[in-house]
Amino acid sequence: MKHTSKRYNAYSNYLKNKYGCKVYKLPINLPITCPNRDGTIGVGGCIFCGEEGAGFENLSDTLTVTEQLTRNREYIKKKYGAKKFIAYFQTFTNTYMPLNKFQSYVLEAASVADIVEIAISTRPDCINEEYLSFLAEVKKNKRVDISIELGLQTVNYHTLKKINRGHTLAEFIDAVIRIKRKGFETCCHLILNLPWDDELDVIETAKILSALKIDSVKLHSLYIMRDTVLGDMYQRDEIKIISKDEYIKRVITFLEYLDPNIVIQRLIGRAPEENTLFVNWNTSWWKIRDEIEERMAVLDTFQGKKFDYLNGKAVKILNNTLRAK
Ligand code: SF4
Repeated sequence: MKHTSKRYNAYSNYLKNKYGCKVYKLPINLPITCPNRDGTIGVGGCIFCGEEGAGFENLSDTLTVTEQLTRNREYIKKKYGAKKFIAYFQTFTNTYMPLNKFQSYVLEAASVADIVEIAISTRPDCINEEYLSFLAEVKKNKRVDISIELGLQTVNYHTLKKINRGHTLAEFIDAVIRIKRKGFETCCHLILNLPWDDELDVIETAKILSALKIDSVKLHSLYIMRDTVLGDMYQRDEIKIISKDEYIKRVITFLEYLDPNIVIQRLIGRAPEENTLFVNWNTSWWKIRDEIEERMAVLDTFQGKKFDYLNGKAVKILNNTLRAK
């Protein structure tokens, strides 16, 4: 891990080191769906999923990929002085569409100026060799990096069932192994405050992602939309959301157990306010991020502080003890 002023391996620094300049993600919104909504795997989707399919700050899906990328690119260039960009296929399940459609969308994105990477957001049960092989060709022929973002949310497979994910931990592990075989980076999306999870689940999640050598993570706190199964449960008082303070503690615990080489894309997500019953304890996401960073400084802790459980921890302790004698 490179030394930064942050106590965790921040994505902005990682991108700057990798590409030599500021790099921003440009979201792409396509008129597609998800197998957990259309009846193939499940109906209604994950219990927290709203109509936008986990994306809400996007341009209309009636615009072409090129139109969406160029509009957003010009805006971000002016606002933040970014020079290079990642085309981010963000909404719904982007590898759950016919292969020929997927190919044409991805090739279109790869041809837009200043795109250095294509990030594909999808589900662990939609990682298929044909799609991965096509992406490997794009990487070689178009000279763009490829990364795959997988929603997992938690490693607790009992909770995965409760939130109606439609897949278990096993499919996630299989997907990561397949993606890594092709040499693409993998990012994992997590929600650290699912009502059925506790601190142990958070620690186990950090340990499993470290053992799998995932490349990056995106942390979100649970937001609750009106007219969702979760929203109804919340209104009936059937679930409890932990406090902001407890969420901050969980994020820090997660980071302490996480391999310090894993990049942190975000510590807390943004969420739409419209139609939302609960979001980020009515606090701006960046204030919570700042609080997490400040707390880490006060505790003098950092990502990977407790990362000593891989490569035979017991044997390491035994030999250190013997050497000390
Ligand atoms: S996998 Fe994503 S798009 Fe599909 S139902 Fe769950 S949150 Fe919604």
